[in-house]
Amino acid sequence: AAKASGRNCFSYFTPCLQEEALRRQDVANRLRRALVAQQFEAWFQPIIELASGRVVKAEALLRWQHPELGTIAPGDFIAVAEEIGLIGDIGNLVFQQTLDVLEHWPTGQISVNISPRQFISGDCRHWPQELLERQLPASCLAVEITEGLLLDERPLVVNTLLGFHQAGVEVSIDDFGTGYSAMSYLKKFNIDYLKIDRSFIQGLATDNTDRAIAEAIIAMAHKLGMRVIAEGVETPAQLELLREAGCDYVQGYLLARPLPREAFLAFLRQGGCA
Ligand code: C2E
Ligand code: MG
Ligand code: MG
Ligand code: MG
Repeated sequence: AAKASGRNCFSYFTPCLQEEALRRQDVANRLRRALVAQQFEAWFQPIIELASGRVVKAEALLRWQHPELGTIAPGDFIAVAEEIGLIGDIGNLVFQQTLDVLEHWPTGQISVNISPRQFISGDCRHWPQELLERQLPASCLAVEITEGLLLDERPLVVNTLLGFHQAGVEVSIDDFGTGYSAMSYLKKFNIDYLKIDRSFIQGLATDNTDRAIAEAIIAMAHKLGMRVIAEGVETPAQLELLREAGCDYVQGYLLARPLPREAFLAFLRQGGCA
């Protein structure tokens, strides 16, 4: 059907919409084939604890190893994967590859991103049970969710989050400060970490507003018993300001890029020095 309507691509009213629909259809087909061909991989970006200077955590980040196009970052295909209902399968792959790395690193913690649709589909509900079966402590795992999800009061969302918490899996709010920030949810749910969005870190050393926002997030989180991870740290000046502000953990290209599994394990063996 998509192909047949392709002729009308230059129709006066909806040219871009149809081109976009065709592009999405094409990406969808490629994604289905990529899943079968096992082209999805989790990469791991180290997270450093500022107090000790050690790599104590990492974030699992999805990559698509395309035979011709090379490594593709998730921004280009996650939305389509969600739309066509493939995000659950891809998310479970990331989780399985994370468990494999944790078996080599039982003292670390790896956080896995869960998109709102993936969360609502319930495909991740069994994760705490699976940790148990692999004899890994639940605290090895953290899940990263976004603020928008916490406005969803459906029982599935509330119960899945409660299930994670009761099992001992930690919960992070990703991209904190960019969503609805209807902070009342901080009272309702047990949140362990706030991740300050990269957009606030970028201007940290040059923009007084960004700096004030970052400092306020850190102070608020600590008063509420949460810890803070700054993402997208790229310069020594940003790192220094975060240290002064009492930030707990940092993640960013300054310290390390996301690394394929083997490179990440090698990085840990070298004591976490790039
Ligand atoms: P995110 O969870 O906020 O992940 C952080 C993003 O910032 C990653 O992009 C990471 O590579 C990038 N990053 C880290 N440090 C720096 C830095 O110093 N500078 C800059 N410019 N970027 C930095 P990535 O890997 O392209 O992922 C983009 C988004 O895709 C993620 O944002 C997350 O929302 C989503 N995502 C990634 N993996 C998964 C997954 O397995 N499942 C789901 N549902 N979503 C995922
Ligand atoms: Mg994340
Ligand atoms: Mg983030
Ligand atoms: Mg982000």
